[in-house]
Amino acid sequence: MPELPEVEVVRRGLADFTTGRTIDAVEVLHPRPVRRHLAGPDDFIARLKGQVFTAPARRGKYLWLPLASGDAVLTHLGMSGQFRVQPVGAPDEAHLRVRFRFADDLGEVRFVDQRMFGGLSYSEGGAELPGEIAHIARDPFDPLYDAEAAAAALRRRKTGLKRALLDQTVVSGIGNIYADEALWRAKMHYAKATDSLKPLQAREILRHAHEVMAEALGVGGTSFDALYVNVNGESGYFERGLNVYGQEGSPCPRDGRPIRREPFMNRSSFRCPRCQPVPRLARW
Ligand SMILES: [Zn+2]
Repeated sequence: MPELPEVEVVRRGLADFTTGRTIDAVEVLHPRPVRRHLAGPDDFIARLKGQVFTAPARRGKYLWLPLASGDAVLTHLGMSGQFRVQPVGAPDEAHLRVRFRFADDLGEVRFVDQRMFGGLSYSEGGAELPGEIAHIARDPFDPLYDAEAAAAALRRRKTGLKRALLDQTVVSGIGNIYADEALWRAKMHYAKATDSLKPLQAREILRHAHEVMAEALGVGGTSFDALYVNVNGESGYFERGLNVYGQEGSPCPRDGRPIRREPFMNRSSFRCPRCQPVPRLARW
């Protein structure tokens, strides 16, 4: 699932193609991606016709396309959602679901989604911040992100460290990949009890999460399952920078011990058994 860096790559790519453009027509080729718009696809289409996009925005893994009217199109990429920009008349992608046509002839924006866990919805008054995601904490890239407050929120939890990192109401944007990478960098085990973290440790793990996501963003994100691409259909390069995620059996870059994969929340956690040992105070 795309995490903050991958969504931010998409946001930046869309910015060049949506900002200031007037929507001429919206085509919904499959109803499922607009299922969260309860009034249905026809209403979704009717509301958008003639509206003007302003600069796309993001919080955590959520991306929205604000409209000059003060409303917004809220999106979630889910497992396999992609935004693509294409010349008018280019062949449809196999899993094309929603198409935005514009009043100019500078190309169209398409939402492509193979598995359709993602989608689009119309958010009334959502230009600044859609109400649907107002409960999500600021992410480390947000100019108003408060690292001290986030560290304090982390320590107030009574859970395992990785569970807290994945909790989007503590800090947003971090998913399985960047949590594992940040934990390795901080030499911490995923089950370390958050209420046993010292203030410095809490700040450290969040700083590592921010840094690893910034590095990933710098190279276009991680193309972990071939479904994540930017608006031009290109993959990022960060898989080369992964130290533990997906590296089961490979040597830890610090000490050479084989990386372990362990079941975690219906998925996996990757860690080095030597530099990330099981802590004395663990919450599984
Ligand atoms: Zn190690």
